[in-house]
Amino acid sequence: MPRTLTIHFTGFRECPNCEGRGDDGTSWRPLECRRCKGRGKLVTGVEIEDSERGVLPSSAYDFNTFGEVFLLDFDEDEEIEVIHPENPWDQRGPSS
Ligand SMILES: [Zn+2]
Repeated sequence: MPRTLTIHFTGFRECPNCEGRGDDGTSWRPLECRRCKGRGKLVTGVEIEDSERGVLPSSAYDFNTFGEVFLLDFDEDEEIEVIHPENPWDQRGPSS
C-alpha cells in the first residue's frame, strides 16, 4: 500500500473582495475576481490525513486561500499519493 495523504477542506469564508460573487459584479462581461479566482470563497481551514501518521499537525503543511497545499518536512524520494478533494467548491454550507 502506498502512503496516502488525504486533504480535506474544513473551513471557508466568503471572499471579501467580491462578496462571494466570484466576479466584479458588472453586468457587461464581469471580470473574474482575482482574489478567489472566481470561486467566491477562500479556504481558511485544511486537514490532512496521513495513512501512516493520522491527522497531521498544522506545522507539517502550509496552505493558501486558493486551497493549494504545501507539504513541509516530507522526504521527496518517498512515494506519496496526495488525494485532493474532488471539487471542494461545490460544498455548500447549510445556509445556502
Ligand atoms: Zn472574490
